[in-house]
Amino acid sequence: MLYDVIVVGAGPMGLYIGERLASSGYDVLILEENGDIGNPSHCAGLFSTHVFDIVGNIGILHPAKKARIYAPNRDYIDIGNDKTRGYVVDRVLFDRELAKRAVNRGANLQLKERVKKVKYPEVMASSRYKGRIIVGADGLNSVVRKSIGVKAPKIIGAMQTIVRYEAEDIEKVHIFLGNSVAKGFFAWLIPLDENFAKVGLASYHAPWDSLKNLLKKLNLKPLSIVGGGIPIGWVDRSYANGIILVGDAASQVKATSGGGVYPGLKCAQCAVKIIERALEAGDHSSSFLSSYEKCWKSGIGRELRRALILHKIYRKIKDEEFNGIIRELKDEKLIRVINEEGDIDYPSRVVFKILKRKPSLLKYLSIPARPYRIQI
Ligand SMILES: Cc1cc2nc3c(=O)[nH]c(=O)nc-3n(C[C@H](O)[C@H](O)[C@H](O)COP(=O)(O)OP(=O)(O)OC[C@H]3O[C@@H](n4cnc5c(N)ncnc54)[C@H](O)[C@@H]3O)c2cc1C
Repeated sequence: MLYDVIVVGAGPMGLYIGERLASSGYDVLILEENGDIGNPSHCAGLFSTHVFDIVGNIGILHPAKKARIYAPNRDYIDIGNDKTRGYVVDRVLFDRELAKRAVNRGANLQLKERVKKVKYPEVMASSRYKGRIIVGADGLNSVVRKSIGVKAPKIIGAMQTIVRYEAEDIEKVHIFLGNSVAKGFFAWLIPLDENFAKVGLASYHAPWDSLKNLLKKLNLKPLSIVGGGIPIGWVDRSYANGIILVGDAASQVKATSGGGVYPGLKCAQCAVKIIERALEAGDHSSSFLSSYEKCWKSGIGRELRRALILHKIYRKIKDEEFNGIIRELKDEKLIRVINEEGDIDYPSRVVFKILKRKPSLLKYLSIPARPYRIQI
């Protein structure tokens, strides 16, 4: 059978695209290598409210309204108020709900089907499948990306555990800054309920050792451990003849936080629009599908680009400078700006507003004389 669309990977992006295209009446096949949707999950499961504007209220455990941000010297600031900034989700339930919807809309979901190679229009797994359009939503180590000769992005190692943790306030997440905690990135503690939390980090150096150190400092014992990676930077191309890449496979992730679900879904919306147009026009060529890349780069791509610049600046901050930044941010007026302007998915907005209000913070940041040039 010739499918209209074959989606490789049943993560959030593949499932969302599968559901939307099946709802429009297209023959959709989704191939997933695991025997179980959403498992194992490496995700911290903290999503902004924007995610739920796209997919509805699924998988929600509780709101996230506040954050305590720690400097390496354990000094901290508290931000947030009664406004819900995002939600902590059960990522397994989240993915399973998306899968249920895709199947209910008529998508054919095949589990335990590992794709080994794509040679358009064929997808090679345990059987050979043919599709008019193939979507590579197969995550960090995408086989589809490799099949079209696109180089993998840089990856930061990440580790996460579940711990027993009695939260004073389950709506408050904890963020730990500093190279001594997580080189070039940060660590998090996210309460799941009153008794358990996820503790994790991403780091350019020895993520597992870094996490062990943090757990020791916090006097917490890991109950389970998962590892993963966060793609950083652009891939050269997110399309080819008959093929598009979405989500982690295309490195559509915020370099500031590693959050990939909202940007991935914004790009998936572009994918759905362009795939529908291509199928209607009967034109699956690389030049037609290039409009997918134009769509996401002119939309959420702008924030991803700013996030990448901020990440490059952030990576250069030393521990004593983080201590200085937290000390200077202990200012009611600045905290008010953060609370009014802060948005998990658009961090650049609040960063620029704070720097405008408090230019003295610039001394902690090594901003190049010539701004970074990133091709987009
Ligand atoms: C430690 C950690 C914490 C994170 N926390 C957050 C967070 O709090 N908020 C947030 O927004 N983002 C977070 N992220 C990022 C987020 O998890 C990803 O951006 C998101 O899962 C990407 O979705 P995806 O559908 O593109 O890929 P994935 O979720 O990786 O799904 C890809 C799917 O493809 C399947 N697959 C892979 N290869 C093949 C193959 N060859 N054949 C068939 N199937 C295949 C996989 O089994 C998987 O099911 C975190 C990442 C890490 C590592």
